[in-house]
Amino acid sequence: MIPIIYHPRYNITVFGMERLHPFDGRKYRRIHDALMARGLREPSDFVRPKPIGRAELERVHTPDYLDSLRRSGVLAEILNVRLLARLPAWFTDWRVLAPMRYATGGTVLACRMALDSGLAINLAGGYHHAASDRGEGFCTYADIPIAAAALQAEGRVGRVLVVDLDAHQGNGIAATIRPWPWASILDVYEDDLYPNPKEPEDYPIPIAWDITGPEYLETVDVALANAIDAVRPDLVIYNAGSDPYVEDPLTNLGLSRNDLTDRDLMVATHVRERGIPLAMVLSGGYARESWRIHADGIEAILARFDRATSLPAVSEPSSP
Ligand SMILES: [Zn+2]
Repeated sequence: MIPIIYHPRYNITVFGMERLHPFDGRKYRRIHDALMARGLREPSDFVRPKPIGRAELERVHTPDYLDSLRRSGVLAEILNVRLLARLPAWFTDWRVLAPMRYATGGTVLACRMALDSGLAINLAGGYHHAASDRGEGFCTYADIPIAAAALQAEGRVGRVLVVDLDAHQGNGIAATIRPWPWASILDVYEDDLYPNPKEPEDYPIPIAWDITGPEYLETVDVALANAIDAVRPDLVIYNAGSDPYVEDPLTNLGLSRNDLTDRDLMVATHVRERGIPLAMVLSGGYARESWRIHADGIEAILARFDRATSLPAVSEPSSP
């Protein structure tokens, strides 16, 4: 059974202030509940992560940046919710930052479990605009680089490939991993969106807002195969944003729910058919149906891979 990582603390609620941002702070619970309602998981099946600790955060982030998050004004700027600046720092830490530390712990755990069992999914994470010394675009902690760096330092992975299919460019990941020769990013993003200017990347694939579903899937298909062949990673971390969806208020792409389900299944299939461990995290998505898109993609992946997550043998003895 594919490990699915979730903690009730992932969900963010701040007296309704979270509704001032299009982000759905309860998205994680909705996905969790949908997977149970669809009969795919029982409550006891979900794996609960520990929150990430300061030492692990400092593997990537500067102490000055981490300290700055204690000021509500800094956090209000990153999350683009000005009213947060009026709340005491202990409160924003408890209700906003702590959930993100649980989610970051979840991304690290998903990567560890992917190496053990082939495929693991964190029902949060993917803060791809956060870099070592800054947060922006609703992203405070660079969970993907933190996870990659932890496993690389432990000698559990050689090369890591991040596949970022959120509609926005993963500028924080790109800036963070650029000095790391062992880490690469393939990033398919809508070219006319934030961030500007774009960050240099290993495999950037800018796309136009009016790309069709079939063209998008073909683009991802070819780019992913090329990047995997070039990098030959020991781990792929998939940032599966749901914001290329046609009804997403922050993007202009026109993909359907089915397109995004096909995309998630295609990525999982590409990576797993090559015997490469895959950790999936969720990233952005601001439509009311964002949770459903993630649930659909995960359901498709579970349907194909739930009973076959273990890694294939490296070499089979030849038959006599
Ligand atoms: Zn996005």
